[in-house]
Amino acid sequence: MRNQMETRCIHGNSDFSFRESTRAVSFPIYQTATFGHVGLGQSTGFDYTRVKNPTRQHLEETVSSLENACDTVAFSSGMAAVSACFELFEPGDHIICSEDLYGGVTRLLCTFCQKNGLSVDFVDTTDLEKIRTVLRPETKALYIETPSNPMMNITDLRGCAALAKERHLLLIVDNTFLSPYLQNPIDLGADLVIHSGSKFLSGHNDTVAGFLSSANGELADRIRMIAKTTGGVLAPFDCWLVLRGIKTLAVRMERQQENAGKVARWLSAQPHIRKVFYAGLPEHPGYEINRAQARGAGSMISFRTDSVETAHRVLEKVRLITFAESLGGTESLITYPMTQTHPDVPAEMREHLGITETLLRLSVGLENCDDIIADLKQALEESV
Ligand SMILES: *Cc1c(COP(=O)(O)O)cnc(C)c1O
Repeated sequence: MRNQMETRCIHGNSDFSFRESTRAVSFPIYQTATFGHVGLGQSTGFDYTRVKNPTRQHLEETVSSLENACDTVAFSSGMAAVSACFELFEPGDHIICSEDLYGGVTRLLCTFCQKNGLSVDFVDTTDLEKIRTVLRPETKALYIETPSNPMMNITDLRGCAALAKERHLLLIVDNTFLSPYLQNPIDLGADLVIHSGSKFLSGHNDTVAGFLSSANGELADRIRMIAKTTGGVLAPFDCWLVLRGIKTLAVRMERQQENAGKVARWLSAQPHIRKVFYAGLPEHPGYEINRAQARGAGSMISFRTDSVETAHRVLEKVRLITFAESLGGTESLITYPMTQTHPDVPAEMREHLGITETLLRLSVGLENCDDIIADLKQALEESV
């Protein structure tokens, strides 16, 4: 019988056959570039670390088991995983993306992907009809973030999977914001799942990593070929850091989500706050869809202040919460999407999406929730 998620976070895939010979409890860091051959034409299964390394294999098997994937490759960053994914396409291919997207992915699509002959349409994927209106014969993939960054829009993954199947498209889902603990896109019909492992999976704001998980063997072979050829794979020590982070994924996600729910409700009641974007609030337009496809709303919140001055005051006055990019770790972080994560998104697009000077994004960490709220409270107060 298959182990539960919490157990798989700690022990990896239950039918994983590779066991280190000393029975070390913490999986060893195989800090080696290459592996000796046991004889002519014979291999231990490990030849060169760019292609395969035991520490990375253990991590990849663990992520595959959490995402119910056929195979996973661990990359040196989330963006390396996204870049590898777009190597699947040919000049002339067309991709439809969520319009609200991690800023680095928008930059990649508008620069190198276009240079390589891909064309892209950014649409509001919360509305499946809008996806249909931009479909073309050369459309090859749907690229979705749900909840999206930073507006927390929810896209119906089952609906997208049905459309992808009907039109023979690949459904690619960036699952960074919920982590496999709360959402498993492959179970909902996705073909490829992307993670920035720098976020919830590693969970301690101490490493940069990325994952690309495939739903079937054919895709897995193509991704393996891309990874070994382009080479942006994760180093053994970083693999170990992410493995250690994943051991506590379940407990971290539970508590961070609990904290986020309290912070979101508290923020909603503050006079200086105009709007809170959090899929765990019943008034969120994607609340029901998120509930139907995910096991929670996670710990990412965006909110709009009543003025630019308030937004700036919060960023300058927070003490416990760090004003920094990134998310998903034990430390609460607050981000200014307009200048930090989305400066390369064209201004009219940002305006259309709602990424304005009054929008702040908060990654709720593992501190005591009362302390997080007290910090926000003092930051929101106008100084006398
Ligand atoms: C951070 C992030 C990425 C990029 O990952 P890196 O590890 O920073 O390269 C991609 N997608 C989302 C949703 C992210 O939050």
